[in-house]
Amino acid sequence: MTEIPLHQHIAPSGEQMTVRDLASCPPPDRWHDWVEYDAKAWPRKVEKHYEIIPTICFNCEAACGLLAYIDKQTGRVKKFEGNPYHPGSRGRNCAKGPATINQVNDPERILYPLRRVGRRGGGTWERTTWDEVLDTFASKIRAAIIEGRRDEVMYHVGRPGHDGYMERVLGAWGVDGHNSHTNVCSSSARFGYQIWCGADRPSPDHANARFILLISSHLETGHYFNPQAQRIIEGKMKGAKLAVMDPRLSNTASMADYWLPTWPGSEAAVLLAMARIILVEKLYNREFMRRWVNWQDYVAAEHPGEPQTFDRFIELLLDLYAEYTPAFAAQESGLAEETIVEIARQIGHAGTAFAAHTWRAATAGNLGGWQVSRALWFLSVLTGSIGTPGGTALNTWNKFVPAPFMKPGPSEVWNELLFPPEYPLANYEMSILLPYFLREGRGKLAAYFTRVYNPVWTNPDGTAWIEMLANEQQVELHAALTPVWSETAWYADYVLPMGVGSERHDLMSQETHAARWIGFRQPVLRVYKEGNGEPVTHTYQANPGEVWEEDEFWIELSWRIDPDGSLGIRKYFESPYHPGQKLTIEEYYRWIFENSVPGLPEAAAKENLSPLEYMRKYGCFEIPQEKVPVYTLNERELKPAELESSQLDERGGKITRSGAAIGVTIDGKAYEGFQTPSRKLEFYSATLKEWGWPEYAVPGYIRSHVHRSVINPERGEYLLIPTFRLPTLIHTRSGNAKWLYEISNANPVWIHPTDAERIGVQTGDLVRVTTEIGYYVNRAWITDGIRPGVVACSHHLGRWRLETGQGAERWASALVSLGRDQEGMWHMRHLQDVQPFESDDPDSSRIFWREGGVHQNLTFAVHPDPVSGMHCWHQKVTVEQAHPEDAYGDVYVDTHKACQVYQDWLAMTRPQAQRSDGLRRPLWMIRPYRPAASAFKRQ
Ligand code: SF4
Repeated sequence: MTEIPLHQHIAPSGEQMTVRDLASCPPPDRWHDWVEYDAKAWPRKVEKHYEIIPTICFNCEAACGLLAYIDKQTGRVKKFEGNPYHPGSRGRNCAKGPATINQVNDPERILYPLRRVGRRGGGTWERTTWDEVLDTFASKIRAAIIEGRRDEVMYHVGRPGHDGYMERVLGAWGVDGHNSHTNVCSSSARFGYQIWCGADRPSPDHANARFILLISSHLETGHYFNPQAQRIIEGKMKGAKLAVMDPRLSNTASMADYWLPTWPGSEAAVLLAMARIILVEKLYNREFMRRWVNWQDYVAAEHPGEPQTFDRFIELLLDLYAEYTPAFAAQESGLAEETIVEIARQIGHAGTAFAAHTWRAATAGNLGGWQVSRALWFLSVLTGSIGTPGGTALNTWNKFVPAPFMKPGPSEVWNELLFPPEYPLANYEMSILLPYFLREGRGKLAAYFTRVYNPVWTNPDGTAWIEMLANEQQVELHAALTPVWSETAWYADYVLPMGVGSERHDLMSQETHAARWIGFRQPVLRVYKEGNGEPVTHTYQANPGEVWEEDEFWIELSWRIDPDGSLGIRKYFESPYHPGQKLTIEEYYRWIFENSVPGLPEAAAKENLSPLEYMRKYGCFEIPQEKVPVYTLNERELKPAELESSQLDERGGKITRSGAAIGVTIDGKAYEGFQTPSRKLEFYSATLKEWGWPEYAVPGYIRSHVHRSVINPERGEYLLIPTFRLPTLIHTRSGNAKWLYEISNANPVWIHPTDAERIGVQTGDLVRVTTEIGYYVNRAWITDGIRPGVVACSHHLGRWRLETGQGAERWASALVSLGRDQEGMWHMRHLQDVQPFESDDPDSSRIFWREGGVHQNLTFAVHPDPVSGMHCWHQKVTVEQAHPEDAYGDVYVDTHKACQVYQDWLAMTRPQAQRSDGLRRPLWMIRPYRPAASAFKRQ
């Protein structure tokens, strides 16, 4: 056995591997029979033979590459390691990647489809067949489609794990039924980006940056954790400076040159102060601003009597942001004035090599949090670092989503349960308000799928979700598609076990760096069996028990909804190679690889492989940049043929055809520009003005609902940050990963020593944290890693179950009592904390942790931002010593107060139902599943 140093390897693209510091890795030509010595046999040298098959991690959205080592003797997966050929992760994974093996072998996993017996939530289940499941749902959905109830079919997803597959399914069914978790996650950050540039995610080129500014820790503890984290460090090793704005000393902040523990919600004030310094000190990129900002629109609309010149625009900017002095920003944030000035200058000097990112955190915590991402992007615009080497690109420039065969047209339906009239600009579906909308009689659900989604546990006001799911008039039929038990699955009619990351097909691409790549998640045991001559027609034949993969579930279900093709659905699920026959999952991906991925057929041919064989072999492919470039795509010049029959708007240079913007003319040349109404970067948003928010037409600062002025620690009041992630846990999907729970198994309340002294608690003491609708009891952790006046509690932990042996993974959950008193108040109490248990895995009897955390989200009311629709997570709370009757894990919720808070926040909206154009939403704004333009208009 000889390990070949990695630097001798040639990557699939033909280039020498750039991975520098992986000492060794099996070369692909030996993946079919890789030999290692059996560590347990030491000191004897006993050979173990493995087949290595690549797949993609499913434990966050970064889609890193994994290599599954399949033991040829047992036919089982032995371990997962990183795939060095994966362009995003380059062979490195976080702890969650290798922990996939725990999920495969978890003795608690569900292996067969289950149907409830008795009332919903009663906890009695029986095994059923997939045939029965498919027939039940097919007849329900078919009836809804035939009877024109196309808004009663809903697919509600937590972690999608694929690009475009479900949108195709829902499009084929002709329903507007895509719902997501995004308005508890990132819709606010997305809105701030979208309103500027038309794309709703940033893609920083950290490795080539000179200065990096991150708002929150999410790059290193969640969002694209590993691929971006490694490039941040790469940038630092080349001399870049790193600043992290986060009230909590996160892992990321601990690596920073500047830790900026701002008061939560003040971030936009600090960023605008930095913008003003860059303007005052003339550090901005004048030429980029002149060419690419829609300054003409701003001056014309807001200052029609002024000279319509760029110089006057800059003067107006200085007036507009005059109040954002370092002193003002310091007063709002608690940072030192000198620090704000110093960082602003460093950003200005970094110029086009300034990389910046924000996600969740400040944007997700605060009323008006979307102004944080908008203000951050303003710094990128000022420095001209949009899509440059070392700058920040649009996600659409660094991501590649290949088209499938036969893409269905958009549906003609608009579902107001998803996009109601009160939130015309909501960046994503108003997911958290679904229980309230159903309760108000705005609709009902005939068939409801939750998929890798646990709203009872994850969403604010989880008891409203319990009430909704238990109501068979509001939700007639509910299936939870999940590899594991969850609090939500408990209230389903069917629990349908789906494969974990190495047991399914998916195609993914993410904007991890300045490149475009696709990753192919594949069921490794199926590939192994097929490679060894064992015929497999469906993935469940290779998975444990009767665990399916979703791709095949949707194909089967679609055929049963439309068995004779008369509804026009079946044709999308017929083979592109054998007309009339049922599509196989292999054919679906084969067609994409053969037809939709530039450069892949050629790369495969060089190795005498078909494109599908190439993807099965390597699990990933990087699109050559000569085929699809990645930097400054706004500068692409339009060809004469593209300009035929177009019109030019002389003032701003917009080029239109049939009323739709197709490009922009600057200094006499026609460019593609950005996907905005003006095709420029929209400092001035006519959209916000026209849709009811004129005061927000330009980047600004909105005082958060948890502004410093409303919180007085002397009265026991604090600002609770409930959003932060632990780098080793996966939202509510880590309970089946024993290694991860061994590392992180409690979520104490972080309290600064000065606050702890005031409250009178020490580390380990119980505290009662009271929100506007209830309270929870947890332990205190006293630390300097949080700024005074702010407390924090990680959102991962506190899983619970209502039965001894099922309902949530016993590695991670407490057995609780949960019920309502006569006044309708909900109470939860731990009956038994985490305990060792007997199973096939001897480790389950070695569990040493007991208190598995406290479920805090139940005590939060909904706070939908009136513009972006995002749930604003931060809470004004009181923190005090626990009362004598309190016990660890106690939760109390007043649902009457929860309803009142919903009404209070709803009253902040400005519905646009009476528009003369009849539009429900600006036509140019993206939607995750986009219906036809006609559906945007009220009939
Ligand atoms: S960063 Fe995400 S995708 Fe990558 S190994 Fe970790 S959990 Fe898996």
